[in-house]
Amino acid sequence: MRPIGIFGGTFDPVHLGHLRSALEIYEALGFERIHFVPCARPAHRAAPRVSGEQRLALLELAVTGQPAFVCDDRELRRAAGPSYMYDTLLSFRSQYADRSLCLLLGLDAFLHFSQWHRWAEICDLAHLVIARRPGADLPERSHEYALYQARGAESVSALHQRAAGSVVITTVTQLEISATDIRARVAAGRSIRYLVPDAVADYIETQQLYLSHSAVDLSD
Ligand code: ATP
Repeated sequence: MRPIGIFGGTFDPVHLGHLRSALEIYEALGFERIHFVPCARPAHRAAPRVSGEQRLALLELAVTGQPAFVCDDRELRRAAGPSYMYDTLLSFRSQYADRSLCLLLGLDAFLHFSQWHRWAEICDLAHLVIARRPGADLPERSHEYALYQARGAESVSALHQRAAGSVVITTVTQLEISATDIRARVAAGRSIRYLVPDAVADYIETQQLYLSHSAVDLSD
């Protein structure tokens, strides 16, 4: 059976950089589908600017018409506390015991992977698929470099033959788009058209999201 991709992020908001790189990975690596998993309470960064429900609604608009992209609200449904990817992967593993699961990460996110909660165990629950832009490289003498040396797979067939445990670095067209930049543009009254799907831009405008700089309250 083909691998299932798991793409976690704040998605505050989702943008064409996320969607384009997910699509290229889906096609190049022969995945069955990709679950987009918005994070409820990020463990290692500031709270999102809009609620989980709003970020999920934006994601649902973004993936309309692409059946291989699934919006997955399991982190938003989980009880209070930080959203650890380790717990998310345990949840996927309980659902798909023997299936190949591939956690998608941009190279920028992977550079901090050794600070993640139970990061070494994550590698036993899923493969890691690292998306990098052409020419970008992993710095030597880091935990992440050592992990790649130990578990790096030459070929994508490793992702189809085993359920977890390999690290694959794949080159994608990485568009220079960030959610930070999109939020700043909205707050400055500038257009975000062509950086996000039109339906996402329309929803942000009609719901008046990202107009102020304050984060959403995650206390409950
Ligand atoms: P922010 O600017 O708020 O930090 P972001 O645009 O980096 O947000 P996240 O939701 O934090 O988006 O990222 C989720 C995942 O998407 C991470 O693995 C990150 O590496 C990846 N990612 C972010 N931007 C891009 C992009 N332009 N192209 C491909 N992948 C991206």
